[in-house]
Amino acid sequence: MARNTGPSCRLCRREGAKLFIKGSRCVSEKCALSRREYAPGQHGQIRKKESNYGLQMREKQKVKRIYGVLERQFKHYFHIAEGSKEVTGIMLLQLLERRLDNVIFRMNLGNSRSEARQLVQHGRVYVNGKRVDIPSYTVKLGEEITVKASEKLSKSLRDRFEALKDRPTAKWLDVDDKNLKAKVTAIPTKEDVGFPIQEQLIVELYSK
Ligand code: SF4
Repeated sequence: MARNTGPSCRLCRREGAKLFIKGSRCVSEKCALSRREYAPGQHGQIRKKESNYGLQMREKQKVKRIYGVLERQFKHYFHIAEGSKEVTGIMLLQLLERRLDNVIFRMNLGNSRSEARQLVQHGRVYVNGKRVDIPSYTVKLGEEITVKASEKLSKSLRDRFEALKDRPTAKWLDVDDKNLKAKVTAIPTKEDVGFPIQEQLIVELYSK
């Protein structure tokens, strides 16, 4: 699967917001944004007023980077959202939040979404008993997600869950950490994203 392989911290610095791409590093004093709160590059410290288009673009880039999806896939989500009966911006966020890799991240079994994605790609994740190794799989209401791993990996995942216990698991998932399982009990809302996002700006950008 195509993915962004550039330096993650530059992305946060470009957006001027912590996107929590690097897991535990993001909450430590090593976080690059905490140390250099300006955009990367030669002109990064020069503050300029963003145009309306610039603001829309930044918001889209921010959301893409939070979920680690590339432009083509993001546009695909937008088209599905646009064709749905729901409010486009909200539906777009819901679709991103319902990605299987994000579910594993929300179950607190990965420090970051990219770590969670690896678990999926390595064939450790089952949906309703069937192995699914596609990180972009969209989970549905009532589905049960289980991580099946060797005893050693299961133990390390439980340890990780324990280490991340201060990070709340998603309200729309009923997580059983002992059995590395979760059930989708609701459709996520905008609040479940846990990040201030102005999705309307993205809708405006793509509606031009
Ligand atoms: Fe972003 Fe995490 Fe890097 Fe901080 S450590 S800049 S939050 S990716």
